[in-house]
Amino acid sequence: MNFACEISKELTCDVAVIGGGTAGVFAAIAAARTGAKTILIEKNNILGGTMTVANVNFPGLFFAWGKQIIDGPCWESILRTIKLGGGVMPEISFKPRHHSLEQIRLNRFVYTAVLFQMCEEAGVEIICNSMLSAAFENEDGVQLIITGKDGVFAVTAKTAVDASGDASLAGLAGYSVLKSETQQPATLQNHICGYDINNVNVNELQQKFKNADLPDYITADVLISYLRINKLDMHIPCIDADTSEGRTRLEKTTFSEMLKVYQFLRGIKELEDLEIDFIAEETGVRETNRILGESIITAEDYINGVFYPDSVCYAFYPIDLHVMDGIEQEFHKENVVAKVPYSALIPKNSKHILCAGRCISSDTYANSALRVEAVCMAAGQAAGCGAALAANHNLPVAEIEYSDLCRALKSINAIVPSAE
Ligand SMILES: Cc1cc2nc3c(=O)[nH]c(=O)nc-3n(C[C@H](O)[C@H](O)[C@H](O)COP(=O)(O)OP(=O)(O)OC[C@H]3O[C@@H](n4cnc5c(N)ncnc54)[C@H](O)[C@@H]3O)c2cc1C
Repeated sequence: MNFACEISKELTCDVAVIGGGTAGVFAAIAAARTGAKTILIEKNNILGGTMTVANVNFPGLFFAWGKQIIDGPCWESILRTIKLGGGVMPEISFKPRHHSLEQIRLNRFVYTAVLFQMCEEAGVEIICNSMLSAAFENEDGVQLIITGKDGVFAVTAKTAVDASGDASLAGLAGYSVLKSETQQPATLQNHICGYDINNVNVNELQQKFKNADLPDYITADVLISYLRINKLDMHIPCIDADTSEGRTRLEKTTFSEMLKVYQFLRGIKELEDLEIDFIAEETGVRETNRILGESIITAEDYINGVFYPDSVCYAFYPIDLHVMDGIEQEFHKENVVAKVPYSALIPKNSKHILCAGRCISSDTYANSALRVEAVCMAAGQAAGCGAALAANHNLPVAEIEYSDLCRALKSINAIVPSAE
């Protein structure tokens, strides 16, 4: 059997970004605003990634200790979304009662519309419904084979940014990727209604729970806590969601476990009309792969706010490792803010590939904090500017001048950390 397939078209550009999600959109806008002809490839129908299709539409954190630490196109997108009535600016303080209070809840429709607008205004060519299938790096750049709805096509780019969330481009191009032994659980965002919590007979629920066939990490108390917040806030075990097989297994598990909980709850008299009236399009995946980069951000460096000579953005969020029965957290000391070095965005030995988003080079604990959305966006902007400079000067990504990168970032209004 001959498996050779025809390449339906060949596109060329300076910078190709794989993944139009949290980080990728801003990598593409930053690259285009830095003068690069930019193509953005996204497997879904819409932009925004986890923020839109998984409904994790509450990015954090743009401020630390009362001061703005992340700015640029990503912040512009937040302000535009808010101006269109798609969000409310939270009150910012030196020490909020809880860090989540400074996250900004965005309306998914308005935010997605703003992302499309901003990409178009910057001149980014957006190609949705298209998935990276193979990647080859050579002396001059990167060749990407993409499977679209209407056939297989090629994109030749001087530089490519891996914003797939899974380090798919780096992996397909042959670079090492790291995976934690146990990956953080996933969550399908949802909303439940059709009952009044005050009428629920907790004793009946507890009695019936004893004979229920439910996932073993669920207790009667957990179920009552779900009912109080109107959502089945379930942690689903997540193994290898970076593969088609693993991702399918995850969605199947999510639906079958949620169905069991739903059926159990509807078996209780006061909950017989309980309804799941909203689910996100995708189960939200917290963790898959990270690149092995030219440098690795460790939890110790992260929490101590170490300044790197090639720092490109700030990051502020507690270490936040979700496990099946809770969260392991560690907070920064007062006035400490973490930084991200450019070298953590470069897959080790790669010449023309950069990475942004949750898969940047970091250890498990540092990654549990660096994965949050404002950091993905800021690192996306840095990868986009770096990729554009490398393409504009025909240089490997590791050889651009740091001073040029800082200048490019400042010209798009991004905040670059300075030595304290
Ligand atoms: C349940 C949950 C709760 C969270 N809570 C918070 C929170 O409170 N605050 C916070 O700030 N962060 C939170 N996060 C973390 C944050 O949402 C993610 O880590 C972040 O959005 C990841 O951004 P990313 O750009 O790396 O990936 P994504 O936003 O997922 O983007 C990756 C994009 O690449 C596309 N893609 C993937 N593979 C390919 C391919 N082969 N070809 C083409 N396109 C491809 C995907 O479709 C997607 O659009 C949470 C995450 C989850 C799952």
